Amino acid sequence: MIALSLAEIAAIVGGQPCDIPDPAVRVTGPVVIDSRAVRPGSLFAAFAGERVDGHDYAERAVAAGAAAVLATRPVGVPAIVVPDVTAALGALARFVVERLGTTAIALTGSSGKTSTKDLLAQVLQRKGPTVYPAGNLNNEIGLPLTALRAAEDTEHLVLEMGARYIGDIRYLTGLVPPKVGLVLNVGTAHIGEFGGREQIAEAKGEIVECLPKDGVAVLNADDPLVRAMASRTKARVVLFGEAADADVRAENVRLTQLGQPAFTLQTPTGCSDVTMRLYGEHHVSNALAAAAVAHELGMSVDEIALALSEADTISRWRMEVTERPDGVTIVNDAYNANPESMRAALRALAAMGKGRRTWAVLGQMAELGDEALAEHDAVGRLAVRLNVSKLVAVGGREASWLQLGAYNEGSWGEESVHVSDAQAAVDLLRSELRPGDVVLVKASRSVGLERVAQALLEGE
Ligand code: ATP
Ligand code: MG
Repeated sequence: MIALSLAEIAAIVGGQPCDIPDPAVRVTGPVVIDSRAVRPGSLFAAFAGERVDGHDYAERAVAAGAAAVLATRPVGVPAIVVPDVTAALGALARFVVERLGTTAIALTGSSGKTSTKDLLAQVLQRKGPTVYPAGNLNNEIGLPLTALRAAEDTEHLVLEMGARYIGDIRYLTGLVPPKVGLVLNVGTAHIGEFGGREQIAEAKGEIVECLPKDGVAVLNADDPLVRAMASRTKARVVLFGEAADADVRAENVRLTQLGQPAFTLQTPTGCSDVTMRLYGEHHVSNALAAAAVAHELGMSVDEIALALSEADTISRWRMEVTERPDGVTIVNDAYNANPESMRAALRALAAMGKGRRTWAVLGQMAELGDEALAEHDAVGRLAVRLNVSKLVAVGGREASWLQLGAYNEGSWGEESVHVSDAQAAVDLLRSELRPGDVVLVKASRSVGLERVAQALLEGE
């Protein structure tokens, strides 16, 4: 972050300095919301959560070196008091990014935001210093915290933007106006809350509405609802995908024997071969999206292809593949699930498991509203169509719908099992797994199915 005095920060966020003996003291960063992450020169933003109130940690934060606290009330140590800490963080982030002139790249979509953010950051890092969120910091608090990590030498700021409601992304792009806006796909994640795909597209498309004329909207050519967003922007449109008119495309797409995608990357300035370290065909689309952005920012196709080939998974529980000493492979994709990502992960499992016994340990996909039964049924059916050897459906009603789908598609008894919870799944797998088996573990975040993957890795 750029160094700013407490007086400057108070002015930027419209706050009231309280108990500040010296307003010239400078905040040099990082800005944090966890008092344990405070470093000398930090600004500690106090949030009142359901269980803990950050204001109670103000003293500790200052003792650990924080220059001041951003708070909603005086806390007995140097503080800048504001009515709304979230809004203040946003204002500060906006100021810092504007002052630095860093190129912000914002991306959204129903599936693959974090994966693509990680890929893109690893590609852009080769061109110049790149700041990007750790994990999934994609909301009104995480985004400013990330943006505030930008410094004088930061060339690119990659930002993930999540949307739960219409207007969420408009708010985020208002904080840090991007030069490049990327939309990956419009799926059914959170469809229960949004009410339909059109509403989801409405919300995601806000990311291109704010782009300046000399900005770039990078859109998925294969997703009609994303492609249609071209009409909502003043910026130049660049398309990626399989469609013949896409600017950035993949040819000769295949999965290696390990299930890692390989393809020839085609750009307007040439082509180059890519073999990814990540697993699952869905990463082709994510890689093309990252390539399209990097190409727009002036990287050569060879540089991009090499970077994509060497990129690793950096956010945990997303297609994390671990081979146990006994030859059982665990694919931990338990971070989250929606119908599209379930399908992608099942296809990856099928590719990785050629000639091996495959297990799909699946749980509920949350927030699907009226679509829930049909979507769980469809996933169960797909598992059978892909010849997954065993389906273990974990949890309550939704899990029974997964099993019902498998049953309806022609899986009789043995191949699909319904267990009540993660522990029951672990017990079953511990007794049944054989060397060479491949196990995919996946469900919505609320199910916490990573426990199954972890237990299977620790237990041996
Ligand atoms: P969230 O909304 O939770 O932040 P996200 O959009 O950031 O999710 P990721 O965390 O990258 O998405 O991936 C979530 C799941 O979606 C992963 O389990 C992964 O297997 C799957 N996935 C990733 N990319 C795609 C894609 N392009 N299409 C379908 N599924 C995908
Ligand atoms: Mg994410």
